[in-house]
Amino acid sequence: MQFPKRLLEGYSAFRSGRLKSEQDRYRELAETGQSPEVMIIGCCDSRVSPEVIFDARPGELFVVRNVANLVPPYETGGTYHGVSAALEFGVGVLKVKHIVVLGHAHCGGVKAFAEETMPISPGDFIGRWMSLIAPAAERVGPRDSMSHAEYLERMEKASVVNTLENLKTFPRLNKLIERGDVKVHGAYFGVALGELSVLDQETGEFWPVKRA
Ligand SMILES: [Zn+2]
Repeated sequence: MQFPKRLLEGYSAFRSGRLKSEQDRYRELAETGQSPEVMIIGCCDSRVSPEVIFDARPGELFVVRNVANLVPPYETGGTYHGVSAALEFGVGVLKVKHIVVLGHAHCGGVKAFAEETMPISPGDFIGRWMSLIAPAAERVGPRDSMSHAEYLERMEKASVVNTLENLKTFPRLNKLIERGDVKVHGAYFGVALGELSVLDQETGEFWPVKRA
């Protein structure tokens, strides 16, 4: 069997560690179903695992991950809408109370857009997908004297703001947001130091979460 050894080892550690201590909770969740209050829209990036960052237990977070933590604006065209389906389930069925868009430093998707990297496949799925952050690039404006790193960080953060706006293009979700039944939040994870910042939606600034 060619199943990755690292995963088998990890599963073994999970069985003897976390599963043992949380077996009751897993059983209960299996019987009663999940009812997470928080939905996270995060990046596929292997360094930015929401369950790890927020120290989440099973059943606590409903997570959607895609390249660069994006939500396309609402549309009902006849193609496949993975993020929309997850939103529909999270909001309509699970009735989550919070949706957090979690951006992060050193995002490869944002970098690919900023550097106009050549398509890496004939389909250029990344190029098309990342064109969703064009409004964020407009928001940031010209690079001028910004360093490359600063420009990327601004793009990553502006993209979180843009994604929050895209969430509001979903009519049913927007109603819930307006009524205060669902609250949307932006956050940003600095990979190197593990620092989390949260978006102040009034000012558009991200503020570091103070350590306890
Ligand atoms: Zn990323």
